[in-house]
Amino acid sequence: MPDWSISLFRIARIRLAVHVTFFLLLGYIAWEGWHASPEARWLGLTWSVTYTLLAFACVVLHELGHAFAARRFGINVSRILLLPIGGMAEFDRIPREPRQEIIIALAGPAVNFLLINLLLLLVTLPATMDEFLSFDLTFESLARHLLFMNAAMGCFNLVPVFPMDGGRVLRALLAKRFPYPLATFWAATVGKLFALAAIGFALTTMIITRNWVQGTLLATLFAFIFWAGENEYRHVKAEERFN
Ligand SMILES: [Zn+2]
Repeated sequence: MPDWSISLFRIARIRLAVHVTFFLLLGYIAWEGWHASPEARWLGLTWSVTYTLLAFACVVLHELGHAFAARRFGINVSRILLLPIGGMAEFDRIPREPRQEIIIALAGPAVNFLLINLLLLLVTLPATMDEFLSFDLTFESLARHLLFMNAAMGCFNLVPVFPMDGGRVLRALLAKRFPYPLATFWAATVGKLFALAAIGFALTTMIITRNWVQGTLLATLFAFIFWAGENEYRHVKAEERFN
């Protein structure tokens, strides 16, 4: 079955692939950049596309963090897939050892916090948040936006919503006290409830602000989290039956 993705190249024996919908996002970003500043259309387009590509490079580094940590425990990542909603490292198995799962889960956000420290060397921090995220077509503004994006990504992934990184830490902590399927059930239930609330919030905000693209992306992201949590729980249950 075609999975609508295009393989780009390998990094440290891991295949990097992009889903075709990623190019739709890039097209939209280019269009937005073109219209952002009527006096500097080409610069706006270049800035927006460069920012998006660098932001996704940070996503790849986050996923590589997981992959390298997993490799230490003999777990392979065959592919990192980039989607408009983020990246996904495809592990050949998920460790049942809580300590291993925690280390692998935390290695991703750790990369974002490392990148924040590197970016802090490049920017001077302004006094207000408005100034911080002000959009001007400079390298400094690009670095500031990347800094903000890494902070948001690092923190968002630590929210205990399974199967995001924080949710994996939650499952691993629960698995220290409870049987693995039960720990997965509770982590997935918390994750699914959060995902449902977030879908409702994203759709309501989308209707109020009429920001259709961002609203659709957010709702899709949380629908994906809901689906992935349910899917992984089913997988654990099925594994249990065979053992
Ligand atoms: Zn992650």
